[in-house]
Amino acid sequence: MPVYRLIEEFSSDAYKVFEYVDSIYDRIKRVEDRVKAFITIVPKEEVYSYLETLLKRGYNSGSYPKLFGVMIGVKDNISTKGIRTTCGSKMLENYIPPYDATVIEKLKSVGMVIHGKTNMDEFAMGSTTETSAFYPTRNPWNLDRVPGGSSGGSGAALAAGEASIALGSDTGGSIRNPAAYTMVYGLRPTYGLVSRYGLIAYASSMDQIGPMARNTTDLALLLTIISGHDQRDSTSLPLHSIDYLKALDELLYKEPRLRIGILKELFEGSDDGVRKVTYSCIDKICSYHECIEVSIPYTKEAVAAYYIIAMAEASSNLARFDGIRYGLKVPVEGRNWVDVYTEVRTKGFGYEVKKRIALGTYVLSMGYRDMYYIRALRFRRMLKEKLDAMFSKVDVMASPTMPIPPPRLGEFFEDPLKIYLADVSTVIASLTGYPAINIPAGWNGLPIGLQLISRPLSEPILLYISAQLEERTKLRDLIAEV
Ligand code: GLN
Repeated sequence: MPVYRLIEEFSSDAYKVFEYVDSIYDRIKRVEDRVKAFITIVPKEEVYSYLETLLKRGYNSGSYPKLFGVMIGVKDNISTKGIRTTCGSKMLENYIPPYDATVIEKLKSVGMVIHGKTNMDEFAMGSTTETSAFYPTRNPWNLDRVPGGSSGGSGAALAAGEASIALGSDTGGSIRNPAAYTMVYGLRPTYGLVSRYGLIAYASSMDQIGPMARNTTDLALLLTIISGHDQRDSTSLPLHSIDYLKALDELLYKEPRLRIGILKELFEGSDDGVRKVTYSCIDKICSYHECIEVSIPYTKEAVAAYYIIAMAEASSNLARFDGIRYGLKVPVEGRNWVDVYTEVRTKGFGYEVKKRIALGTYVLSMGYRDMYYIRALRFRRMLKEKLDAMFSKVDVMASPTMPIPPPRLGEFFEDPLKIYLADVSTVIASLTGYPAINIPAGWNGLPIGLQLISRPLSEPILLYISAQLEERTKLRDLIAEV
């Protein structure tokens, strides 16, 4: 059931929440062995007693919070007090945070329940959830396929009906990619709109937390809860909270006509099936809005710049995992620091993470810094200028979210460059900090998603088009058989 319906149900009878909790845990019991969406599942008894405490506090006597009891899957790189937070890595296998991330505090303040931490690529580095140190997650729509990544556990939990709504994080596409591959809605907010206090950092100039849901209304609801200024995150924008549901309703009422830019290179560069499905999806609203073809001629360069910057920042962010301040604990008595450090990092990090730390250190090293890192930063500025110029002509830009359908498990390992290049559409919003959404577009035997990018802080516009498309495609509230 959509979250906006659950809220209505529980507001007339708060005790119905227990039947709902049972139904989600029954579903987990039935499908989780095959899907593997979670790294940690909170025992049902704990959820029960948490809800009972809330009810005793008088939440059922009129003053009860809006999203009481709604069960949310949270990506395992977001700190949850008292619930293990591994970041998909052996390095943090036994880490139990002593505090909540700001977004978690916000979820709790409206009565939501975190019932599980979802699987992810190790330290969010990947596009398939296969680099998780624990196990890969499978796509509920086809168990031989990946669910995308790195927030693949969140997408799979939604598509398999194991959570009502979810949080992901997106550095280079990690919300939009798994949303596309699991047929759900996912939004990467404008950089600075959602606090990252308590998010385990990958590449700080691009990391963002964002909502994932099975329909646009739920997506707007969750964005409303998690967004807003936070003093504890120095990159947080000094803005008052916005009610995105209200903003969405207003736009749906006024129905403004917009200009939609069809990103030529990204459609042309996609697989045939993907192109057909996404094109016919966007076409559904082109008779109402004005659709024009636009071009950003350096999409491949954007991928290179993204990976240089992401790896450089990762090599610096991950230096803290030394076994002393953070990370795996190994015997230290009578040993020198280099030996301890080497052991911790050899055992704690997986192959992909090590590769990126090495490459990131390389692009920042003397002599190579100007050639790679500084050039990538210059490219980033130029891309932003091009995008800004484009946004004086169009309101949003459309492209396939992913240029290929969900690959088979293991397929990407045969060609590591191909996996990086598959981020061609998503990295544009990441490098510029602009908001972008994945909207389920249709089937080509497998789920296919459409991406829209818009100007900074124009999330309501993205939600508006998403709602219009959802109305036409009816691709909402879908749960796979598994
Ligand atoms: N696939 C991209 C990467 O591996 C994006 C990951 C992300 O957004 N966290 O870096």
